[in-house]
Amino acid sequence: MKAVFLDKDGTLIEDVPYNVDPDKIRLCKSALEGVQSLAAAGYQIFIITNQSGVARGYFPETALVAVERHLRQLLADIGVSLAGFYYCPHHPQGIVTEFAIACDCRKPRPGLLKVAAKENQIELGQSWLIGDILNDIEAGNLAGCRTILIDNGNETEWQLSKQRLPNHIVKNLTEAARAIAAIDCFNPKTNLVNLKNNHKGTKEDADGKRVSPSSLASATQRDFFEKWDEINKGKSQIKSDE
Ligand SMILES: [Mg+2]
Ligand SMILES: [Zn+2]
Repeated sequence: MKAVFLDKDGTLIEDVPYNVDPDKIRLCKSALEGVQSLAAAGYQIFIITNQSGVARGYFPETALVAVERHLRQLLADIGVSLAGFYYCPHHPQGIVTEFAIACDCRKPRPGLLKVAAKENQIELGQSWLIGDILNDIEAGNLAGCRTILIDNGNETEWQLSKQRLPNHIVKNLTEAARAIAAIDCFNPKTNLVNLKNNHKGTKEDADGKRVSPSSLASATQRDFFEKWDEINKGKSQIKSDE
């Protein structure tokens, strides 16, 4: 089985910090088509989320039951079945003793992905992680997944290391799904299935939105390093102004 592990806040749903009120949970508009096409392409959809609000005493762990139920319903409403919801309730500086630990499941650690993979017979090397900050990417890389960063402004520190480098950078989940579909059609292993999917996707072909190999090449690590240079130039400018 192959999977797409999705970060929750800022990737799949609109980011409302520490929110557990189901009424405030909204799927990102730019994520809808993406999550549908990933599911249609045969990826099991998982949510992998840090929920340190539990350790910080902002809400009880039981509040996450309603969050999961609501997310399942929102996805079911657009025809997507959620294969699993995995959260880390911990934080080393938490105030709730039980959860105030350094764990292996809080991203950037890969623990949740590994557990999800084990429990659901997922091949991590065939799978993807999509997130909006580099801590997500690091967790995906450490687990052995391919990774896509959604560059929507939520990553602000850009702390770079080899294990925090995403395979691709895109603007939203739907672009991420297009990139994955395009890569899958060049993978001999999944060629048949995905060529079929792409033939079905005539809408995309018609309006020319399908990701071409050349546009993929430009949306990869080179962009990341350009971004990195840009950020650092900004930083050094700030320093020289002081
Ligand atoms: Mg996020
Ligand atoms: Zn944890």
